[in-house]
Amino acid sequence: MDKYVVFGNPIAQSKSPFIHTLFARQTGQDMRYEAQLAPVDGFKEAADTFFTAGGRGCNITMPFKEDAFAYADQLTERARLAGAVNTLKKLDDGVILGDNTDGEGLVQDLIQHSTLLKGQRVLLIGAGGAARGVVLPLLAQGVSSLTIANRTVEKAGALVELFSSHGPVKASALPELEGNEFDVIINSTSASLSGELPGIPASLIRPEVTCYDMVYGAEPTTFNVWAKEHGARVALDGLGMLVGQAAESFMLWRGIRPGAKQVHNELRRTLQQ
Ligand code: NDP
Repeated sequence: MDKYVVFGNPIAQSKSPFIHTLFARQTGQDMRYEAQLAPVDGFKEAADTFFTAGGRGCNITMPFKEDAFAYADQLTERARLAGAVNTLKKLDDGVILGDNTDGEGLVQDLIQHSTLLKGQRVLLIGAGGAARGVVLPLLAQGVSSLTIANRTVEKAGALVELFSSHGPVKASALPELEGNEFDVIINSTSASLSGELPGIPASLIRPEVTCYDMVYGAEPTTFNVWAKEHGARVALDGLGMLVGQAAESFMLWRGIRPGAKQVHNELRRTLQQ
């Protein structure tokens, strides 16, 4: 049976084994997927041991995405530009391929919820690792503009420099957003985790704007509650992105695309129990 794992530290909270086990059942794939704790300074040894023992591929979560980037023999373009790897696959010739499926997971979730990005004005709040991972996939959808706004504006500027040759991307300080209009607002900050708001003007929230918070949990996130209070009709959380990135990894490993919707629904049910 083909073996897959997710490496992280901590890892007990990971939903990936649940998601991939359902994907495997749904698509009839003979595989096993487990969570594996790696020592904080021991990703390379853990990955070496896994692949030497016949492991076919793995997901990588906090804090190892940069270690996995360094570990890969080859990188996809989206992983190279993300500067982080969340998926490794052992190719037939033994080469370890590193990919980053987070951004495509976000894009697929938005599409699943009828938000097509082509020609849209997108605001991305935050400039950390999660933001960096989604810029290229968002630009690849043909957005008309992508504005990156961050509390520490220099970090938004650095991302713009990195991606400026890939599409219409610009940086902004949070207060300077006042007076702008966006069609899609994506919160990639961790602010909701501590019950905080990222600090964008409330005037940006209009009924027809799709709001998206990458954070997820049993309850609606702080940002999404705020967005709804200010009139947003659609405020999605990051659970669909999590399932979407897993579906992309599964596709890379198995060559078959699982249905994300049913698994998303089941995962939502277990979160709320
Ligand atoms: P980082 O630590 O790399 O970046 C955090 C970002 O949040 C920075 O831009 C930081 O701004 C900003 N920030 C934090 N607190 C506040 C605040 N109170 N007000 C304004 N800005 C704030 O984290 P990541 O980018 O790796 O992850 C961000 C979030 O995305 C996490 O909550 C994570 O759970 C989620 N995520 C979800 C995924 C999914 O599949 N749904 C996938 C990946 C991530 P500054 O630079 O000024 O410090």
